Amino acid sequence: MSNRLQAVRGMNDILPGVTPGWQWMERCIAETVQAYGFSEIRMPVMEPTALFARSIGEVTDIVEKEMYTFEDRNGDSITLRPEGTAGCVRAGEQHGLLYNQVQRLWYLGPMFRHERPQKGRYRQFHQVGVEVFGLPGPDVDAELILLCARLWRKLGIAESVTLQINSLGSAEARTAYRDSLVAFLQSHHDELDADSQRRLTSNPLRILDSKVPQTQALLADGPVLADYLDDESAAHFAGFCALLDRAGVAYEINPRLVRGLDYYGKTVFEWVTSALGAQGTVCAGGRYDGLVEHLGGKATPAVGFAMGLERLILMLETLGVLEQLPASTPHACVVAVGEAAEQERLVLAERLRDALPALRLEVILGTGGMKARMKKADRSGARYALILGESELAADQITVRDLRSDGAQVTVAAAEISGWLQGHLTVT
Ligand code: ATP
Ligand code: MG
Repeated sequence: MSNRLQAVRGMNDILPGVTPGWQWMERCIAETVQAYGFSEIRMPVMEPTALFARSIGEVTDIVEKEMYTFEDRNGDSITLRPEGTAGCVRAGEQHGLLYNQVQRLWYLGPMFRHERPQKGRYRQFHQVGVEVFGLPGPDVDAELILLCARLWRKLGIAESVTLQINSLGSAEARTAYRDSLVAFLQSHHDELDADSQRRLTSNPLRILDSKVPQTQALLADGPVLADYLDDESAAHFAGFCALLDRAGVAYEINPRLVRGLDYYGKTVFEWVTSALGAQGTVCAGGRYDGLVEHLGGKATPAVGFAMGLERLILMLETLGVLEQLPASTPHACVVAVGEAAEQERLVLAERLRDALPALRLEVILGTGGMKARMKKADRSGARYALILGESELAADQITVRDLRSDGAQVTVAAAEISGWLQGHLTVT
């Protein structure tokens, strides 16, 4: 075995070459949610294990086999959060933010699931989640869809994602549906995968979420939830569809769409893409009116979604969006030659940063000859080299060389250099 230090399998470093893309994407997201009146909330990455078992459901993929759970030094069972909704509800309850109030909350951060790593599926990944509390009607469900659609346009991927929607109905409707699903699947017991056979008695609706192709094929002939919908859920769903129609948002009703978590009812939706292969869901969500009460709070309607940022970045890469982003390389480099100039370079750089707060300036540090320094300045990707040598120092001047145009250079009085840069760069 090699001694080289390696990251935990399925946990990625996001390297400097790609962080500008992440930062841009995160800025687009923050601007969009703010445009809809959302406030950011930040929760711990660990919660008591019981929170997830109770909210996500004991018989789900996440709780059964994907959680990073361990005992801390006090012997308490702690879990690295596999998703954000449970922690958000916990925080909202703990701090009295939910009862009888409308809250629009969003968060961004790492989530942890012990899954088999593959493209678009990792053990540490990032989600942006939004949760709205206190609004029972389909209008807010539609507002969340419009928010996503606006974000896709801002990111330049609107043409590559489609919206699927469904209604899971009330708890009673799901119970009635469950009975007919169980009867149907029992008659095909031997064709089911082992997990699904087990769930037939413990949590049959989860079978709808199975990733086993043979099971999915079998389900295609099974009963559909839509036929069991209660009147209230049907009216809610009709209202939701009407609002999407009115806003001109295209969608597909997918009667087999369910969510992998236990707490959803009524509206569910997914934004999917064919640009990523098997891991095609970039954003998924729905209504979970029962969760707050289930976790010990007062009954509070709620709806939300989570999007996977690694999958979004993969899409942005695949579609060539990231190539078009403005560079984040320095605008200029300070190149000092000779001991006196080297003594002066940090002070010069500070003066420029004071005058131009948005200036990206790199000082070529250390010692070395002019030629080696200019090479470094060139490699930084900067447009200009600000050269300070003995003669410049004596004359109180800076030589400005345009690194992107064969050797062109001008001499500028030291006192005027910030004004010169402002005139030649788009720096505010
Ligand atoms: P999947 O069916 O792909 O396993 P899920 O239903 O488990 O997804 P959710 O719990 O709804 O996913 O999470 C919301 C979003 O988070 C997903 O649509 C996806 O974009 C992202 N996501 C979920 N699990 C992972 C993972 N292991 N790695 C990367 N992104 C993920
Ligand atoms: Mg999953």
